[in-house]
Amino acid sequence: MDSKIITKLVEIIGEKYVSTRPDVLLAYSSSASTGYDSIKPDAVVRPGNTEEISRILKIANEYKIPVIARSGGSSLQGEVIPKEGSLVVELMRLADVTLYEDLRSVKVGAGVTFGMLDKFLNKHDLWLPVYPESSLVCTIAGNVAVNGAGPGSSTEGCIAELVLGLEVVLPDGTVIQTGTEASPHVPGPFLRYAFGPDITGLFIGSLGSLGIITNVSVKVTKRMRQFHYETYGFETAEQAEKFLISLKQNDINAVFASIYEGRILNFFMDMLGEEYEIPEHDWPDFTVSITIGRMREDQLTSDVALAAKLCESHGGHVIGIRQLPQGEWDDRMRTFARSSYAHGWHWRILYHHQTPSNWHASVKVIWEVMDEYGLLGHTAGFQTGHSSYNFYPHLYFDPTDKEEEEKVKEAHVELSKRLFKTGAVPFKLAPYWVEGVEEMKDYLNFIKAIKQTLDPNGIMNPGVLGGL
Ligand SMILES: Cc1cc2nc3c(=O)[nH]c(=O)nc-3n(C[C@H](O)[C@H](O)[C@H](O)COP(=O)(O)OP(=O)(O)OC[C@H]3O[C@@H](n4cnc5c(N)ncnc54)[C@H](O)[C@@H]3O)c2cc1C
Repeated sequence: MDSKIITKLVEIIGEKYVSTRPDVLLAYSSSASTGYDSIKPDAVVRPGNTEEISRILKIANEYKIPVIARSGGSSLQGEVIPKEGSLVVELMRLADVTLYEDLRSVKVGAGVTFGMLDKFLNKHDLWLPVYPESSLVCTIAGNVAVNGAGPGSSTEGCIAELVLGLEVVLPDGTVIQTGTEASPHVPGPFLRYAFGPDITGLFIGSLGSLGIITNVSVKVTKRMRQFHYETYGFETAEQAEKFLISLKQNDINAVFASIYEGRILNFFMDMLGEEYEIPEHDWPDFTVSITIGRMREDQLTSDVALAAKLCESHGGHVIGIRQLPQGEWDDRMRTFARSSYAHGWHWRILYHHQTPSNWHASVKVIWEVMDEYGLLGHTAGFQTGHSSYNFYPHLYFDPTDKEEEEKVKEAHVELSKRLFKTGAVPFKLAPYWVEGVEEMKDYLNFIKAIKQTLDPNGIMNPGVLGGL
């Protein structure tokens, strides 16, 4: 990067927060995405407020420098890995938290992680009811940028459902505020759908390709303290799926709910069962693992009893092993699905949403592809929101085996193609969906038009959103 650009950046945020040092660039060249190659940016800046970010983007636009917004760096599909010649704008210094107790909302800077926020809210007996497994490092803004989900999402849906408004710096440096806070006279964030169309939604899941989110306003609720953890066994996938749907139909508050195949559960148990103190068990073909959460004990007791009844009415039985859901709920940093870390494998993840009644279709296709390509992997996911199931299968590879890595890349694209035909939809609009799925062309053209309008020089994280 030209030294005169670096001088301009230093003028904006000071020498201390601009770096071109090789060791610093190396640190920002990768992320938690183990299956993607690292690329060093040309420079890293660490602005401290919205005004500085606006001025930085004006410069990036003038000199047509690719910009990568980076928060926790915990994304898993290579989204935050820099491009050649790029400028990384790291947002962790934006760490303000403002609570609006009467509005049941909170506004956080782009550098606030779920862990930091949870610590703050706990003191007020509140919480943000969606809490990704990467919460100690991942930021609320980063999660909004990828439209993530996590424990809590089985009742609340993706993080999108909780967002009330965003402050965003557009690629040309203009600062906009969405939701009720677009008015200077409101007491704080209380409604997302104000001022006409849902502009907030445009930036949710935009992967840093349409602007930089500097503040996020989200709903918070009174903290649940009553939990029950349970496992339920079934002989067929259809029984397990129907049970999951019946929990929703009967308003049982399963804050985290997953269906596991027996073979996958055995695979996870071999790796981490002992660490989680899960008793040895002859797991059935299908296990539903849930955490029920309620504000009041009487509600919890009623939910637990009804869930057992529903399980039996669908031909299942209560297994009674609680350590599995409890481990998932309490220890989100190291859930079973991340067990590949324990083995040093790399992987490609394929986020998608499926309907709970079609859970078996995703699982079938994932196994078909893994078998055809001779790969190791898993089929994990969890229920999200009203009628959706969020899958994040991993395809593993040995990082020293280049042939296997290529095979995984091919299988990844093939899998997206086949999943799309089962009725699955992309969770994050990652480029492999575009490579694999012809029918998305018109939709992508529309997104392209939006991107060109907001970012005519194509500086914001080029290539990340469906390859655009
Ligand atoms: C162990 C582990 C468990 C995980 N579990 C979950 C889980 O349960 N649920 C889940 O959803 N994800 C999970 N993830 C993935 C990851 O944590 C999420 O994608 C997370 O939301 C990324 O947030 P981040 O702050 O780390 O963002 P980054 O990785 O820094 O960035 C992610 C993307 O958002 C863009 N971006 C970041 N900040 C901004 C901003 N302020 N404005 C505009 N664009 C921005 C970046 O350019 C990039 O495209 C997990 C990851 C790991 C390593």
